[in-house]
Amino acid sequence: VQPAPTPDPPRVSSAVSRLRAAGERVTPARYAVLRVVDAADRTDEHLTAEEIGARVAQVEPSVHRATVYRNLTSLVETGVLSHVHLGGSATVYHLAEPAVEHSSGHAHVQCHSCGRVLDVPPDTFEEVAERLRRDLGFALDTGHAALLGTCRDCQTP
Ligand SMILES: [Zn+2]
Ligand SMILES: [Zn+2]
Repeated sequence: VQPAPTPDPPRVSSAVSRLRAAGERVTPARYAVLRVVDAADRTDEHLTAEEIGARVAQVEPSVHRATVYRNLTSLVETGVLSHVHLGGSATVYHLAEPAVEHSSGHAHVQCHSCGRVLDVPPDTFEEVAERLRRDLGFALDTGHAALLGTCRDCQTP
């Protein structure tokens, strides 16, 4: 017997309908991943695959960790999730903005001292992107990786 379902947050419903429209199955594992990532997005958290796996295990204990990892990959391929590379080998996930598939709609900077990840507006790197396009014909994917630096708190006064 399933408990009465709580209504889906709008971004989860939107992701679910995009999955269905793409002919993709919405399995309990995928559903749990979408809910976990949506909740993290709303609290400005940036979760790694491992962290998402741990949270999915709390709501869907029957879902194997490997299934979560496989679904993260396929959900990114379908354009429902976006990923961002941080310093080191860490990768974190967001729900993708429907208007900009494969993108979270914002860019990131990360402090290499404390590891904090900050969201920055999508147009932050616009001038850089424009210059690269003009000078090199290079299309910069500004949301794909975080730029590293030192946050305000970690800079010695
Ligand atoms: Zn810092
Ligand atoms: Zn972010």
